[in-house]
Amino acid sequence: MTLPASVETVVVGAGIAGLTTALHLARAGREVLVIDKSEPWREGSAVNAGTCALQNKAPDLLLAYREGIAAWRELVSELEDDIGFVNKGGLRVAQSTEDVAALRTASAAQVALGAPIEWLEGNALRDRAPWLAPSVIAATFCSEDSFASPLLTGQALIRAIRAAGGAVVVAGLAGQRETGNGFELATSAGAIACRNVVIATGAWTDRAAALFGIRIPVTLNINMLSVTERVAQFMDNLVVTHIAGRFTLKQFPNGSCILGGGFQGRGDKDTGRKEIDLDQLQANFRFQCSVVPQLRASTLLRSWTGFTAIAADGKPTLGPMPGRTGLFFAFSTNAGFTIGPYVGRLISDAVRGKPMPESTHDFTPGRFAA
Ligand SMILES: Cc1cc2nc3c(=O)[nH]c(=O)nc-3n(C[C@H](O)[C@H](O)[C@H](O)COP(=O)(O)OP(=O)(O)OC[C@H]3O[C@@H](n4cnc5c(N)ncnc54)[C@H](O)[C@@H]3O)c2cc1C
Repeated sequence: MTLPASVETVVVGAGIAGLTTALHLARAGREVLVIDKSEPWREGSAVNAGTCALQNKAPDLLLAYREGIAAWRELVSELEDDIGFVNKGGLRVAQSTEDVAALRTASAAQVALGAPIEWLEGNALRDRAPWLAPSVIAATFCSEDSFASPLLTGQALIRAIRAAGGAVVVAGLAGQRETGNGFELATSAGAIACRNVVIATGAWTDRAAALFGIRIPVTLNINMLSVTERVAQFMDNLVVTHIAGRFTLKQFPNGSCILGGGFQGRGDKDTGRKEIDLDQLQANFRFQCSVVPQLRASTLLRSWTGFTAIAADGKPTLGPMPGRTGLFFAFSTNAGFTIGPYVGRLISDAVRGKPMPESTHDFTPGRFAA
């Protein structure tokens, strides 16, 4: 597609943050164009594990992630297409006495913040999840833990944006000039003028911010993920996470188990090269089998890696850039799929002139300026 000469808002990045921002803007009757440097919905949002869990999140960001899960439920009702959203709750497990102590502390902090979390051990735990290994001695159950299908979600969002009058095209942002009345963007598909720019570039947010002379320091993660062959349903659609970290497991409705958690591969986000680390992959699989022994009987069909990034202070970077009219950031932090639809709603509101809620003031993109 040839770029139009101008549009009200350009959203840079066609992942969950950018597409949900664009969807809300288009549905509010605003002119919006999403550009992506490569095929839309190809990076973090497309290759992730689909986990939308609450109870594996740190207390300081728990409320923001809770808004994220609520926004997923809204998204389900707002989209015509199925996005594979399943909300049957999740278990966070503990396998040692140290784990149990850590789980008690973590869950107490979450309950104090209002998270619906229930302690399980002994028969109550075995009855709820007979497929957990005997080494799992306690768990917490959170009714809000959920998952969605990354594959279905991207297609559904792009269709909905187009149906609402927005557009999604391939064009990499390469430079910009402030015009006094907005921006003149230089892209791989030509120039375009706009009043607002939303930077929703995920792991590349440091690079995109630098084009505007702004520093957003990030740490890159190269997460690995694996999928098993389809097996008969046995996990009751629960999401399993682990208090010791680096663990997410769920069984999709088609029977495939998705083994994630953030074991690291290798790669380079500038060239796009990504590689599996076989030692890490084995460690990941062993860890998962120690919790759910039935996995030992299933074959791993495919493993892959993807880029995701966390801002230097671990917080999302959201909202208008102070002192730069028309420039907005929609950069989630860790687990950006979970929080993504909430980010989209917040940023589309901000573009339409609504103030950011007080609970998000710590996330201002201006905080790195000094
Ligand atoms: C393997 C893996 C598993 C994960 N599992 C989970 C999970 O289970 N649950 C969870 O909550 N999170 C998970 N995450 C993290 C999550 O995927 C990301 O945090 C989230 O998808 C980020 O969404 P985003 O829209 O900000 O970025 P992305 O989805 O990465 O989208 C950013 C887009 O910006 C584009 N872009 C970048 N620079 C430019 C430019 N200059 N011009 C134009 N376009 C540009 C990119 O091409 C990309 O399409 C996982 C990540 C990985 C890699």
